[in-house]
Amino acid sequence: MRARRRRIQLPYPNTHESIWEYKEAFLSGQIDFVSFLGSDCPICGKQGCYREITPYWRYAIDLFPEFKKEPIPVARFLCDKRESPFSLLPTQLIPYFQYTVNAVIGALLLGLQCRQMGQKGFHGASVAVDPDSLLTPWLIACWLGVVVLGLRRAHGVLGGWYHLIDIRSSSSPAAWEEAASYFLCFGWRLRIRWGPPLQSLVNRYSRDTRLFLFGTPSQYRATVHP
Ligand SMILES: [Zn+2]
Repeated sequence: MRARRRRIQLPYPNTHESIWEYKEAFLSGQIDFVSFLGSDCPICGKQGCYREITPYWRYAIDLFPEFKKEPIPVARFLCDKRESPFSLLPTQLIPYFQYTVNAVIGALLLGLQCRQMGQKGFHGASVAVDPDSLLTPWLIACWLGVVVLGLRRAHGVLGGWYHLIDIRSSSSPAAWEEAASYFLCFGWRLRIRWGPPLQSLVNRYSRDTRLFLFGTPSQYRATVHP
């Protein structure tokens, strides 16, 4: 077993309308990550400790308004004191997910619409999107679980911004209903562009808490030693 440097993922709240706009801004050097982070190291708190290192590239997939899959850059830094690399993941993304927040919530909204028409949500949503996306009912079921878990975890904070009194946690068969109640409170609907209110909620949550609304970043995952 060898000691491993702990990787850390921090959310990067931003006002880019989509992950593709973020990519453009990144590549044209318009994003000032250092002024976002400030002078104190976000890992150890020491002033002037961290420095920027080479970004890494990963895939991002969106499904709305159309299917698109492209590599995107993620800014990386190193805390010198603890020798910990950390990255700033734009809030359009969910840690360890290729699909964007927009794609995930959009697919769940489609699933809810299918259920209203008496169909099975997981299957209905998977056939309603671009077939090139290879979206499966199984993946949508996973997303529903991750999204409901994230909303439950954030319920206290979100309750300060929205009227969530009537939402009760329930057992998993009612996860669709639980997700639907939150989406209704947030004003996310298929008929409107749900992207902007979604992105502003995700940003606000990450700015206020420094946490990701959905998903689990590397620092909170169990490390598996070979
Ligand atoms: Zn540091």
